[in-house]
Amino acid sequence: MSTATGTLTIDLSALCANWHTVCSALERKPAAVIKADAYGLGAETVGATLYRAGCREFFLATLEEALTARSFLPDDAILYILGGVRPGEEDECINAGLIPVLYSKSAMKRWASVCRELDVVSPSVIKVDTGMTRMGLSLEDWHACVEQPEVLADCHPVLVMSHLACADEPDHPMNRDQQQRFAQVAQSARGLFPGIRCSLANSSGIFLGADWHFDLARPGASLYGFDPLAGREPAMKAVVKLELPVLQVRELGQAASIGYGAETQLPAGRRLAVVAGGYADGLNRTIGREGGVGYLGDTRVPVVGRISMDTTIFDITEASLPSSPDNARITVLDHRLRVADVSRRIGALGYEVLTSLAGRYRRIYREVAQ
Ligand SMILES: *Cc1c(COP(=O)(O)O)cnc(C)c1O
Repeated sequence: MSTATGTLTIDLSALCANWHTVCSALERKPAAVIKADAYGLGAETVGATLYRAGCREFFLATLEEALTARSFLPDDAILYILGGVRPGEEDECINAGLIPVLYSKSAMKRWASVCRELDVVSPSVIKVDTGMTRMGLSLEDWHACVEQPEVLADCHPVLVMSHLACADEPDHPMNRDQQQRFAQVAQSARGLFPGIRCSLANSSGIFLGADWHFDLARPGASLYGFDPLAGREPAMKAVVKLELPVLQVRELGQAASIGYGAETQLPAGRRLAVVAGGYADGLNRTIGREGGVGYLGDTRVPVVGRISMDTTIFDITEASLPSSPDNARITVLDHRLRVADVSRRIGALGYEVLTSLAGRYRRIYREVAQ
């Protein structure tokens, strides 16, 4: 099959296998983080697949993402908004049954007063900063809230959470510090609100050990095939495969310079493949500007020259000539070219590689075998 753009294949069986791997590391079922369109893989299909696999709680980043998720997930799915609720959006949040993460005193006051005005008991999540210094109540503010818990109580908190800064570095001392600070927060929260749940771990945090688990883990990346602790168990299954169609194969009759800026020179006799897909498709992030590689069949082939907006050139001299060049494709992400390896090679985060896959790709979902 020939297509004009790249094909992103998302393996839903691998997604489910990763969900089960994460679940088996935990005492209680986790939520799934499907923000940023499930890290670029498509929140609707990913969310529905995880729901069928038993997931009932989902974290989104924004009100818009959560409203969209509300439309495609069954009614009993619990949806949290990590980015919280902006002033004036409280009603919309309440009407759609969405649960915002409140991370400032002003947001808490607003939520409490809207709940009072509307005479509703609408649950919220309280986020406390234990070391990330991004969003969250400071520990001082948290303890002040606990001392005078009226506003806190009027926010109807069902979950108290924090976020780890260094979970992917298991030996980093910050992990234990944050765990201990959060354990104190959890203790005071449970003292005030019996039945409240506590949540600290993202994907990597889960594999730091049971002390980090609390009641609800929030994995994202691991579900999408990213090993939570580099080079250690468990190895997650690759979920994405990205293939780029070959537009043209050419053999150099004489030495030539390749691409914009004529930075790369190649001698006569080299065979090149130009593929569809360039930096407008996130390929600078996906395969890197230099030293990028793909696979033509079983042969590793290097990127040559600069990546253009719509095309990328590979040196395929070492590969056998595709029997039907019109259908040939070069694979740049799969189980051989894992998101983690590729991102390390280009000095990016796996998250950046995944979320830059939006591009002009045709998404194909490989269904879960029934
Ligand atoms: C994105 C996010 C997660 C998920 O993290 P992964 O490393 O992808 O598992 C969990 N919690 C918060 C607060 C986040 O922003």
